[in-house]
Amino acid sequence: MTIYLDHNATTPLDPRVLEAMRPYLLEEFGNPSSRHRMGCAAAAAVETARGEVAAALSADPREIVFTSGATEANNLALLGVAEGGAAAGRDRHVVTVRTEHRAVLDPCRELERRGFRLTVLPVDGEGRLDPDALAAAVTDRTLLVSIMHANNETGLLHPLRELSAIARARGALFHTDATQSFGKLRLDVDEDGLDLVSFSAHKLYGPKGVGGLYVRRRRPRVRLSPRQLGGGHERGHRSGTLNVPGIVGLGRAAALAVAGRDEERARVARLRDRLEAALLAIDGAVRNGPASPRLPGTTNVGFAGLDAPTLLERMPEVCASTAAACTSAVVQPSHVLGAMGLDDARIGASIRFSLGRTTTDEDVDRAATLVGEAVAAARRDEAAG
Ligand code: PMP
Repeated sequence: MTIYLDHNATTPLDPRVLEAMRPYLLEEFGNPSSRHRMGCAAAAAVETARGEVAAALSADPREIVFTSGATEANNLALLGVAEGGAAAGRDRHVVTVRTEHRAVLDPCRELERRGFRLTVLPVDGEGRLDPDALAAAVTDRTLLVSIMHANNETGLLHPLRELSAIARARGALFHTDATQSFGKLRLDVDEDGLDLVSFSAHKLYGPKGVGGLYVRRRRPRVRLSPRQLGGGHERGHRSGTLNVPGIVGLGRAAALAVAGRDEERARVARLRDRLEAALLAIDGAVRNGPASPRLPGTTNVGFAGLDAPTLLERMPEVCASTAAACTSAVVQPSHVLGAMGLDDARIGASIRFSLGRTTTDEDVDRAATLVGEAVAAARRDEAAG
């Protein structure tokens, strides 16, 4: 039996999403740019999905640009604004945070190489950003501030409304990487003060390889320079024939998530708390990051003195992560936990468990038992060795 506790890495496709996609993979395969009946059917499906995605953010459908995922959306937001905004008379200054995903940090570093001034703000021991530090970093000429909504490793939620107000009061644009929270937590681009929002379908029971970027059209109008040139699709922001089945899947996934949002949020939080309580009862276990505010399905726990990859090998039934899946191709201690001041030993002893729609009470109880047994066995071996 497999217990999948890695929903922050990716999620299974919801069968209802697959059903929505199926006609666009088989019969209705037209190119949405074509003027004939099949092209129009595909274009109509894309526009329905655009409406569903926009509704999840309380945005205008014309503000949604479909991409291949959140990595591309972050690159388009950061590099696109940097080039598009240069004309707006602002300094080449971008502000972000040390615990961002590499898909934000790496484009920011690229901007630095291109001559931008980059401020990367520190966080406290629980991963929180001090709003006063943001206020001190942003000037009246700062171009862009990029701060994620939910952290993928600890689940910590940044107070977007408060942080965006600080940035926008100085005239800076505010981008958020909402990959982990999109559809799961309420987001409203006007109330939350968001100018650009990145998201991805595969974290939300949609297909891999599709996502999008919200780009504000009014008050202020965000000027983006495209990364990909060609046929001028997506209002010139992103050329290339649209991934119709993927986009349909993203739209359906967003609509389903929003419809069941509050119930699912409470259910997953209850399961997470149950798992976390059992894990923290294990000798030497400590939580990384705060209890709240946090993404409902995430807990990150360190098992003092142990090696997390070895621990996971002792319980092959349990699928969980030792570092963000996206960076674990490169073996290096998590930069997120490092920014929180954790030493390499504690980082190396930490496991992220992320729950989701497939998770049951039996899953969390069995996982807690298996982790307890693996830790006990590891400690026995250590004592013997
Ligand atoms: N940002 C965050 C916070 C993420 O968790 C991820 C996925 N690990 C990404 C960006 C990248 O998303 P995608 O896989 O859609 O490129």
